[in-house]
Amino acid sequence: MPHGTDLLPPRYAVFGHPVGHSLSPAIHRMFGEQCGVALEYTAIDVTPAAFDDAVRRFLAHAHGANVTLPHKAAALALADECSAAARRAGSANVLTRLPDGRLAAHNTDGAGLVRDLTGRQQCALRGRRVLLLGAGGAARGVAWDLLDAGVGELTIVNRTPDTAAALAGALGVARVRARYWQDLAELGSFDLIVHATSAGVLGQPLVLPHGLATAQTVGYDLSYGSAAQSFLAWARAAGVRTACDGLGMLVEQAADAFVLWHGRRPDTDPVYAHLRTTGA
Ligand code: NAP
Repeated sequence: MPHGTDLLPPRYAVFGHPVGHSLSPAIHRMFGEQCGVALEYTAIDVTPAAFDDAVRRFLAHAHGANVTLPHKAAALALADECSAAARRAGSANVLTRLPDGRLAAHNTDGAGLVRDLTGRQQCALRGRRVLLLGAGGAARGVAWDLLDAGVGELTIVNRTPDTAAALAGALGVARVRARYWQDLAELGSFDLIVHATSAGVLGQPLVLPHGLATAQTVGYDLSYGSAAQSFLAWARAAGVRTACDGLGMLVEQAADAFVLWHGRRPDTDPVYAHLRTTGA
């Protein structure tokens, strides 16, 4: 006997506000074609006030949802159960309707970043000195995975210093420290600089000292498209070895959601190449 959920159409969506720019529908459709999985995937724009009702109504007749800004914390709060990755991040980017109708939350952002860094960008992490700029939802999502990947030192710097200190405290290990933004010029250089602020998305200028980078540094912006341009321009001017945006992370976190929902791991390289050449 098929389970009740199996009788539902294979529907998925990404919830955000705004969400029109989201590449998730295209990515999941390409994964589905590649793996022979028929699915319907749409983008649903919903305000924070309407998020809870909208996502519950959708998931009553669908299999899963991705969640993007500004709903990731709300997604975790409405779920009936959550993975360790979602709990420690304090947010979820994946919601899955379980066979008994309850909702499970997961966060695949950190795993997506680490796989893009260590694979596509060939950036070894073990023992490395890492600077994390920002302490918002995305920074919280990736910090644990950077530690799990064995980084030697994680320095967190945020415009609002208390938030960086709180994240460092939550991570709770000696190789993590929080520092003030105005002290950036005194921190020396890093092997990897992860830019996780929303300054680029907001069109706000980013002022960083060139001394943070050397010719061996990898500069990585979690944003992509025009939002990443300011950090990438700084990184290139500072002489980094590699400057990359978060498109690879986006595709990798989507692949982890696809595995959760369909039990198949798609090949992310052709999807990444397609999005790169079509100007994502
Ligand atoms: P968030 O929770 O709103 O946090 C924003 C962060 O940016 C805070 O640390 C904030 O500092 C800082 N900030 C904002 N404006 C700033 C400025 N002008 N100068 C310095 N710092 C500033 O947002 P989020 O969820 O962390 O998202 C951050 C970025 O990551 C977004 O661009 C998002 O698109 C990207 N992202 C990408 C992926 C992917 O798959 N590639 C996944 C997740 C997120 P305060 O604490 O001082 O306000």
